[in-house]
Amino acid sequence: MRDPNEAFENLRPLDLLAIAAHPDDVEQTCGGTLIRSAEQGYRTGVLDLTAGDMGSRGNPELRVEESKAAGDQMLLAWRANLRWPDARLENTTPARMTLAGVIRRLKPRTVILPYWTGRHPDHYRASEIGYEACFLAGLKKLEEDTPPHRPFKILYSSLYANVTPSFVVDISRQFERRMAALFCYSSQYGDSAEASELFPAQREVEERIAAVARFYGNLIGVKYGEPFVVKEGIETDDVVSMAVRSI
Ligand SMILES: [Zn+2]
Repeated sequence: MRDPNEAFENLRPLDLLAIAAHPDDVEQTCGGTLIRSAEQGYRTGVLDLTAGDMGSRGNPELRVEESKAAGDQMLLAWRANLRWPDARLENTTPARMTLAGVIRRLKPRTVILPYWTGRHPDHYRASEIGYEACFLAGLKKLEEDTPPHRPFKILYSSLYANVTPSFVVDISRQFERRMAALFCYSSQYGDSAEASELFPAQREVEERIAAVARFYGNLIGVKYGEPFVVKEGIETDDVVSMAVRSI
């Protein structure tokens, strides 16, 4: 997103916004939930913080192009890339302020962030910057030209961490579409010779991703699932009609 204002012209508020460190992160963590939400009639969006310019394969322009195609697969209403430096994400005041400004313009009710611990520093930094930006976005005096907006709900995509999810979304019907979105990144997942020792073949990726989704689906008795963590408790007002069989 070279000129942030360009991306916000005539934009209607989003219901659900996923913020991720790299293009192709959401396709592996919460893409099924984004697809399912769009099918339910919600306006969904993705903001990628970097273009993956430190990746061994492809280049940033190509990654952003591929991410647009993947976004179409996921039925997104909006997707943009802040082009921050890959593998060097830092939680600075300008970073938080920029992201808070984006959140004020997009006005999402719910935000999906990466889980707050993980192997890749960009993932947990994106989580921290995202959380703090959501808070800042609600401050009245932050910017003069945008009204305050603090998202109501923050969900964490926990795929990379060994944690018990707070809840799992059934993505059985969205799984194939999510896989198609991931394979829009042909620079990353094609069976090319470039850096092939680092990158598993497409078949291997498919099997690994299916196994993870099957594991989480199994927790709620469905074929494929996506796990999420929330920091607050989950309320139910009807214990009789609760989902997921216990015995
Ligand atoms: Zn990533």
